[in-house]
Amino acid sequence: MKEKLRVGDAGRKGKGVFAVERFLPGEPVLEYGGKAEWIWDIPEDVWQFTFQVDYDKYILPEEGSFGWYLNHSCDPNCVILGTNRVVALTTIEKGDEVTIDYSTNVGWDGFAMECGCGEPSCRKIIRSYRYLDPALKGRYGACVSAFLLERRRETA
Ligand SMILES: [Zn+2]
Repeated sequence: MKEKLRVGDAGRKGKGVFAVERFLPGEPVLEYGGKAEWIWDIPEDVWQFTFQVDYDKYILPEEGSFGWYLNHSCDPNCVILGTNRVVALTTIEKGDEVTIDYSTNVGWDGFAMECGCGEPSCRKIIRSYRYLDPALKGRYGACVSAFLLERRRETA
């Protein structure tokens, strides 16, 4: 498959991932690959690049990969399907930055990240899925990381 993404300058967010061709809604954009690891086995200084796949498991994307640089937006043009797939939510034009809503991937209640995405709907502080507004949860529906939709397990 021809790569339809590139890493580029995303202004104050640092680097980001951009479309080099149009994506249509529902089209696969990228997949997070790699071994799912216990968070404490991942160095803390790269936690910001991890992608959560279960309540106690995270994938650390290859440094410099698209997954490494995928930024958050409070009005994203992509959503998460299943465990590790990112698909287009809206039509993404060539040159657009590709984004997901990090809250649809985070199940750790201690998570808090300042957001300056600039969208009118910006929540300013990004927190875990459970803190999302019910209306927004409704809008995302099942298009969030699969583990977030399961009943939380009390013990491992
Ligand atoms: Zn925002």
